Amino acid sequence: MYRDGARKSIWQEEIKKKSTETDLYRMFDVVIVGGGITGVSTALKLQESGKKCLILEAANIGFGTTGGTTAHLNDFFDTTFTQAINRFGLENAKLYAESGKDAIDIIEDNIRKYNIQCDFVRKPAYLFALDEKQEKQLKDIVEGASRVGHEMMYVSEIPFPVPFKEAVVIPGQGSFHPIKYIKGLCDAFIQLGGSIVEECFCESHEKKDDSIILTTSKGEIKAEYVIYATHIPPGVNILHFTNAPYRSYAIAFTLKDENYPWELGYDLEDPYHYYRIQDVDGQKLLIAGGEDHKTGHSDDTGECFSRLENYVREYFNVETVYYSWSSQYYEPVDGFPYIGKLPGNDEKIYVATGFRGNGMIFGTLSSQIFHDLIINGESKYEKIFNPSRIKPLAGFTEFVKENASVAFDFIKDKTFIEKIESFSEVREGEAKVIRYEGNSYALYKENNGMLHLLRSTCPHAGCEVRWNSAELSWDCPCHGSRFNVNGKVLTGPTTKKLEKIFPYQSNKS
Ligand SMILES: Cc1cc2nc3c(=O)[nH]c(=O)nc-3n(C[C@H](O)[C@H](O)[C@H](O)COP(=O)(O)OP(=O)(O)OC[C@H]3O[C@@H](n4cnc5c(N)ncnc54)[C@H](O)[C@@H]3O)c2cc1C
Repeated sequence: MYRDGARKSIWQEEIKKKSTETDLYRMFDVVIVGGGITGVSTALKLQESGKKCLILEAANIGFGTTGGTTAHLNDFFDTTFTQAINRFGLENAKLYAESGKDAIDIIEDNIRKYNIQCDFVRKPAYLFALDEKQEKQLKDIVEGASRVGHEMMYVSEIPFPVPFKEAVVIPGQGSFHPIKYIKGLCDAFIQLGGSIVEECFCESHEKKDDSIILTTSKGEIKAEYVIYATHIPPGVNILHFTNAPYRSYAIAFTLKDENYPWELGYDLEDPYHYYRIQDVDGQKLLIAGGEDHKTGHSDDTGECFSRLENYVREYFNVETVYYSWSSQYYEPVDGFPYIGKLPGNDEKIYVATGFRGNGMIFGTLSSQIFHDLIINGESKYEKIFNPSRIKPLAGFTEFVKENASVAFDFIKDKTFIEKIESFSEVREGEAKVIRYEGNSYALYKENNGMLHLLRSTCPHAGCEVRWNSAELSWDCPCHGSRFNVNGKVLTGPTTKKLEKIFPYQSNKS
């Protein structure tokens, strides 16, 4: 069982097949597309309320970012409470603060109710400033937190061996094993009569009379409601311009000493580093994350791991790297997630995206919001997280324009494409976007000399893909679609593969 990248994450060992025997010809009340924390939590909540639900997953449960997360459960967010107050007003910022507490409570309730063994533990988190600029930032964060009634207290010591100028502690946070958790949710969902179909790619939807027809790789499937829990919705939507895809990197280390910090930790660098611990088969590991960048915008993704490792080695007594992996998240233009009705579509189609680095929380919260919207017709979070909101913020138009112009620039930009005369110019283990006999291709040569040749133009918006050496994937710099070396879709929004040329004619080598 896999993840959407070539590297193994610390959680991956626990990913197991979850498909049920399912009659796909029957009508479902709700089809949930996507088997990450958002899809699985939502499916369980709706099934509990008597809806007949189906989870459709393109690969396997936990294949997406939920299998490549770091699973801190923190109710202070990447968009700070001060930013939330400035952009959405104090009352909405208070609701935003409440949403984090609600989500951790939902997780805790699920764990208790279904007796899920997923290493869940409540613990404090530390936020620390490393220089004067970050000190000011921290002051700003604490002021905002105090205005929305969120507890943060200044401390003079932190349990991390990092020289800091100022720090706060935030009680009542937590961590867990995300795959053990969603596995437990799946078991409960199946027990309640829910259906799961893996290796089923959803290509599109269409409204017909009172139902929605999904076109999938396993044929047409009919439902009253559809929820896209795909992290970013497939196809073409305004949400692809109001969200930007980012990669983030994580490494799990053993230490030479026993100084593993039990608490959660975050500095205020840009991008910030984050820390937690996890036991795997009796072995304690320190997980550190950071080095985020826009998808497809790093020349050498392998370098990101080296930088993260060197950074951690400066402060911790590192022995060995056990796991290293990267994954994708989405930055929303105004800082709040988009959870609710899919913009520009029928009202029975929903979506959840734009979680930043807080998707354990907002994915879980989505389950409550979708439940409340479908069962009760309303949710207290409906307005603030409405995916169709257009915030007249300073920076909003720039962000949307920047996303559009980035796409445009990348479509025009062919300068990085190398012209080659023969495939033998590409070394083993190397990948390049090449121009060959007038066309551009994505070429990867395995260590055994086997060539994988694809058209290099992303079918979603026509940009040229870039090589991600860390995860052996072709990543699109425009909207974050990703493909494996055979052109198969790893990450949306594309619904089409990269056209495969290989096996090419041998007289062309
Ligand atoms: C390195 C990293 C660390 C992070 N750390 C934290 C953290 O500590 N705390 C936190 O709260 N958040 C964290 N996040 C964010 C969080 O992990 C994600 O927001 C969350 O996992 C998203 O869950 P999801 O279910 O919405 O999406 P995913 O887990 O990506 O699941 C979506 C699923 O949909 C499937 N799918 C996609 N398209 C289709 C289709 N067309 N048809 C069928 N299936 C489809 C995919 O295969 C996938 O399995 C982190 C993110 C990264 C990248």
